[in-house]
Amino acid sequence: MSNRPYIVGNWKMNGIRAMLAEARAIERGAGRYPEVQVGLAPPFTLVQAMAEQVGALETGGQDCHVAVKGAHTGDISAAMLADAGAHFVIVGHSERRRDHGETDGLVKAKAEAALAAGLGVIICVGETLEERDAGRAEAVVQGQVAGSLPDLADEGQAAKVAVAYEPVWAIGTGRVAAVDDVVAMHGAIGKTLAGALGEAGPSVRILYGGSVNADNARDLLAAEGVDGALVGGASLTAESFLAIVAAA
Ligand code: PGA
Repeated sequence: MSNRPYIVGNWKMNGIRAMLAEARAIERGAGRYPEVQVGLAPPFTLVQAMAEQVGALETGGQDCHVAVKGAHTGDISAAMLADAGAHFVIVGHSERRRDHGETDGLVKAKAEAALAAGLGVIICVGETLEERDAGRAEAVVQGQVAGSLPDLADEGQAAKVAVAYEPVWAIGTGRVAAVDDVVAMHGAIGKTLAGALGEAGPSVRILYGGSVNADNARDLLAAEGVDGALVGGASLTAESFLAIVAAA
């Protein structure tokens, strides 16, 4: 496992070209924290410009298709993202699982396509409030990890994979998970990774996501088993995102 904290911003469906100025401000600020690995995932329309203009940050996509190319109107392949200069791609975000009916099997295939294109991949998992209240959070998330994890071509690829634990009820709600719950969930995910990947399991980083902000980042990022954060709303301005980078 890399000890370097990994902080990734997910702009979701936000950002037109004017927002690249914010990305450049993030790049300048992040330069003060070389010990932190910082990534930003803008909408597809900005991936190439961001990769070209903000080269000190890692640029990522928010989704990819399983195929390399072909008759899939409106879709973007991992190879196209790589060609546009992307370093990584987020797959299986709960908003895609919800809006596009993405299943674990599809997410796994996307993760494999990402690795085949030479990209890093962040696989999102997380339980709903209903599942947590029913005492099923660990079982649900462990099932998602087991089902969404790519088959690795070699053990070295594990370092290119991260799992983001993002409880659905904490995303965009301002309601952050308790640190104890995050530690427990990351521990459960770690067990699943070890079961699936053996010695390569600990090379997969585990990020927390869901209402991470400047105020709660320090406690979350200091928690056992938390290798970084996937940040939505607070990644949209340099000020709030850099405060999280600084906390790491
Ligand atoms: P949020 O989103 O930080 O706005 O809660 C996190 C995410 O969905 O990745």
